[in-house]
Amino acid sequence: MKITEINHFSHHHKLKLSYSGTPYQCDGCKELGFGSCYQCNNEKCDFHLHENCGVAKPIATHSFFKNINFKYEKKGKQGKTCKACGKDVQGFMYKSKETYLHPSCLELPSTLNGNFNGRSLRLNLKVKAPTKCLICQNKEISKGKLKGWAYISSCGKHCYHVGCVNNLNFENWKMGYFNQSQSGGVTNGLVFINEENRGSSSGRKENERPLMRYALNLIVQAVLGAVVSSWIS
Ligand SMILES: [Zn+2]
Ligand SMILES: [Zn+2]
Ligand SMILES: [Zn+2]
Ligand SMILES: [Zn+2]
Repeated sequence: MKITEINHFSHHHKLKLSYSGTPYQCDGCKELGFGSCYQCNNEKCDFHLHENCGVAKPIATHSFFKNINFKYEKKGKQGKTCKACGKDVQGFMYKSKETYLHPSCLELPSTLNGNFNGRSLRLNLKVKAPTKCLICQNKEISKGKLKGWAYISSCGKHCYHVGCVNNLNFENWKMGYFNQSQSGGVTNGLVFINEENRGSSSGRKENERPLMRYALNLIVQAVLGAVVSSWIS
């Protein structure tokens, strides 16, 4: 049973479990979210929490870290980066010794399944990119310092860092692209721009592009914390 209303230490009004049809910035972890969230009904507040940030588990585990417990913490740490995406932990986070994770990164699905024109596509989350990321063209993120988690398709052709997709989401969000109707297509109210201007498809065969875009969109949704499985036909 889902908790439909909560009192949360981070806000002075009650928060209701609602559906955000456009991406929002979580006031807990400062990362972007989409879909199910805890929201203040007072419009002036514009206050959102990821569902997982609103009812955070005090202790969490992850299959990439054997026998390690992560502790939920309310405050981020300056200069500390998330092991998954390489971005600073600026708000709620999970910590174990010197390993930090955003709550939304901790919850990333280990596999994403899609179907594109009758071709099934499966993307697996890996602790490091086995091949070059199609956005940054590197295996490692943040100048080689951090490997960073990546999704790679079972065919091995589509590889994207979680961190690079996260940056892409922030760019699109700041530019308001998620709210516009573009050729990227509308999925359940969420609009994704295509990656054509990013040079990521350079040197690729023209007919591979739609599949690449589809793969990227699956990851965009996963990184936003949208429930992927329910809206892929
Ligand atoms: Zn959050
Ligand atoms: Zn409020
Ligand atoms: Zn992260
Ligand atoms: Zn990358």
